[in-house]
Amino acid sequence: MTQSPGSPRRVINARGTYTPLGVSRASPGVAAAVAQVLQQFVLVDALHDAVGTQLARWAGAEAGAVTHCTAASLTLAVAACMAGTDAGRIAQLPDATGLPAQVVLPASHAVHYGHPLTTAIRLAGARPVLAGTAQGCTVGELARAVVPGQTACVLLVSSRLVQGEPVDLAGMVAAAHALGVPVVLDGAAQALRVQALLATGADLVLVSAQKYLAAPTAGLVLGRAARVQAVRAQEQGIGRAMKPTKEALAGVAAALQEHQALDLPAWAAQQQARVAAFVAAAGALPGVQARAEPDPTGLPLHRARLALASGAAAVALARQLRDGTPCIWVMDHEAQAGVLWLELAPLTDEEIAETLQALKLLLI
Ligand SMILES: *Cc1c(COP(=O)(O)O)cnc(C)c1O
Repeated sequence: MTQSPGSPRRVINARGTYTPLGVSRASPGVAAAVAQVLQQFVLVDALHDAVGTQLARWAGAEAGAVTHCTAASLTLAVAACMAGTDAGRIAQLPDATGLPAQVVLPASHAVHYGHPLTTAIRLAGARPVLAGTAQGCTVGELARAVVPGQTACVLLVSSRLVQGEPVDLAGMVAAAHALGVPVVLDGAAQALRVQALLATGADLVLVSAQKYLAAPTAGLVLGRAARVQAVRAQEQGIGRAMKPTKEALAGVAAALQEHQALDLPAWAAQQQARVAAFVAAAGALPGVQARAEPDPTGLPLHRARLALASGAAAVALARQLRDGTPCIWVMDHEAQAGVLWLELAPLTDEEIAETLQALKLLLI
């Protein structure tokens, strides 16, 4: 594979859909669709309508739309709940005077995906209100934080980044609806589970196009038709700075088409076999206990778990892999506890072999 200019070191990304590493690799078909539209004029609204229809069909939602990225989707979903399609309110934001401006979310969902999620809420002019504690939040605690007429929406997150006890998503959606408040659900890395997220009853579900769909960077908004329309209406307001590019729209259309042609159960079984083979080889190395484990958020993926003799050994191994050539990035969020995780799905067989070879050289 050729090296892009400006990236002198080749990266093997076993860390998952990690933004600082370029998130994902698009297929040749997606890259071609992007290259083609970059050389054309196009009716952008008509292209957006068509992609929205395609998205809605794929997810089984009433409607779909595209934004610049999921962080933008969060801001625009909140803005949509505050302003609807009212031109005056849209023009007024981010000045929230006289508008419902509280956004209630479980404290354990105030995650940091590169910036604090609460920053994305504040950018709409809204004020985040945290319910419960970092350890967890009950449906009752969430409901008590909602003030009808002042709360614009309830915001929930489905992600590996969420800490504490898992919350009852569907129960929280039902409680918010009983109080007349809409619900936005951020599932950026959960595109492969979008139907399950919509089944919680959330009004808007946000997923990333560039994570597990390997499209160009874009935010996908799915859900109730009126709410999705209100998100698109924000393009005349604060959403101008968060709009999807024509190349993102064309890339999303191509990526979605390829994704729908994929036999997901067969793909998942193939990935599981690759992880099993990797774990068998890695587990034979000195000082390593290896096993496969399913993704903790329910994605149809297994990950490789490597347990080292100590936290220091795991931290050192992750650093040595990163400092090598090529540089190899693994998940190190549990390194202090002696555990490294690898996500192998986006890697080629050659890259998996190179990773095993690097482990061998460092551990033997
Ligand atoms: C990645 C991520 C985001 C941000 O997505 P971008 O498309 O990079 O803006 C938001 N929320 C969660 C939970 C994420 O994992």
